[in-house]
Amino acid sequence: MNPSSIVWLRRDLRLADQAAFAAACAAGPVIPVYVLDDETPRHRRMGGASRWWLHHSLASLEAELRKAGSRLILRRGRCEDVLAALAAETGARKVHALHHYEPWWRNAERGVARVLDLHLHHGNYLVPPGTVLTGSGTPFKIYTPFWRALTARMPPALPVPAPQQVPAPLHWPQSDCLDDWGLLPAKPDWAGGMRAEWTPGEAGALARLASFAQIAAQYEARRNLPSRAGTSRLSPHLHFGEISPATIWHSVARAGGSVDKFLGEIGWRDYAQNVILQLPDYGSRNAREGFDAFPWREGAEADADFVAWTKGRTGYPIVDAGMRELWATGWMHNRVRMIVASFLIKHLLIDWRRGEQWFWDTLVDADYGSNAVNWQWNAGTGVDSNMFVRIMAPLSQSDKFDAAGYIRQWVPELVHLADAAIHDPPLPVRGYPAKRIGHKEGRERALSALAVLKG
Ligand SMILES: Cc1cc2nc3c(=O)[nH]c(=O)nc-3n(C[C@H](O)[C@H](O)[C@H](O)COP(=O)(O)OP(=O)(O)OC[C@H]3O[C@@H](n4cnc5c(N)ncnc54)[C@H](O)[C@@H]3O)c2cc1C
Repeated sequence: MNPSSIVWLRRDLRLADQAAFAAACAAGPVIPVYVLDDETPRHRRMGGASRWWLHHSLASLEAELRKAGSRLILRRGRCEDVLAALAAETGARKVHALHHYEPWWRNAERGVARVLDLHLHHGNYLVPPGTVLTGSGTPFKIYTPFWRALTARMPPALPVPAPQQVPAPLHWPQSDCLDDWGLLPAKPDWAGGMRAEWTPGEAGALARLASFAQIAAQYEARRNLPSRAGTSRLSPHLHFGEISPATIWHSVARAGGSVDKFLGEIGWRDYAQNVILQLPDYGSRNAREGFDAFPWREGAEADADFVAWTKGRTGYPIVDAGMRELWATGWMHNRVRMIVASFLIKHLLIDWRRGEQWFWDTLVDADYGSNAVNWQWNAGTGVDSNMFVRIMAPLSQSDKFDAAGYIRQWVPELVHLADAAIHDPPLPVRGYPAKRIGHKEGRERALSALAVLKG
């Protein structure tokens, strides 16, 4: 019998179109392992909502592996130490894994490669990040030319089916018990809304894709309307790698209709990895250094505003609906993410990094690259054009994108108001807070702060 190989799993929790599994299965017995690393310094600890998702995704993968005659080994600690110990215990010679681009994963890959024979494969993105280059051979900084160059390499290769059988080693090494990892919230159990909304795991991802494929042709018309379920809601499945982007591409393209806009959004995900590959500390540092001196508000009053924002009690119905949707389900509609981010950064004049951190903790799709790229884009601090002056008007955005039904769903205090009144209630409503700051006042304060920076 050939020696075993380890498949080191991270954000690639699937069997289909998973190149690390395909390579390991072709070579002999396979030991699939997931390592939870909460110890390594500078390894960004997963937020609460992501940990909830991870628990269920691992449970689902373990069940699928059992059907294929295999198991999932769970271990905790520093990846290179854990994998080296596992290789010594089992006699495994090679480690197969997919590439990941978060700075801490790249560090871990370097560490593992120092002690073991590590084979990294591509497959979590449409094209390998770092390989879409300008005519002069440098990476793109701006999305539009990046996407144009990427589409020239499309369609992606057809997805590889999941292995029917995953060859097992003669003896299985010991595994931690998933329940002992404490990934699920206990007291209080805040995950009820997430359980109702999501089915983590590969089967859940495929079911979500199948239902989206039926409405994909209307994506462009509906994607900005939070009251309509017009987007795919595939983001947490994609983040955890429960489905490959190539699988999504081919399924949606087969469904037909004008799906270019949707595929372009999948491209934003590739673009975000392209940015963090160039600028690994994008989640914590302004790309435009000029913003380092920006007079963000700090202190007790700003803290109170921040708490009101997190709790969905700003007095702006569309902002509050979004923040409550996020808290309840771990997800928020993209148009509303843009509105709440603009509101925090500009109306409340609070550093985008506090918002990024809140999203990191509460989103089930919290993704280092996508989160940082979108926050810096909204703040105008990023690699692309300076968007600070684009101060979204939450009240008219709410009206324009027909958010009345969405507000009724998430802000019960306003449920009795007619469509015309719900975006900006004309009179005080019992139990619903007054605005933290008026729109005009917030806008002027933001522009004055920007003028101070420029002056
Ligand atoms: C402030 C802010 C923070 C964000 N943080 C995250 C995050 O942590 N993780 C995350 O996956 N997305 C993030 N997004 C992007 C976007 O809001 C979500 O990807 C989208 O809402 C997910 O819903 P969906 O799957 O229905 O998207 P769809 O509209 O169906 O799009 C399909 C897929 O394309 C990708 N995508 C779509 N829009 C974007 C985008 N603007 N940037 C990057 N990828 C995109 C996602 O993988 C998504 O699942 C953020 C946006 C903003 C404004």
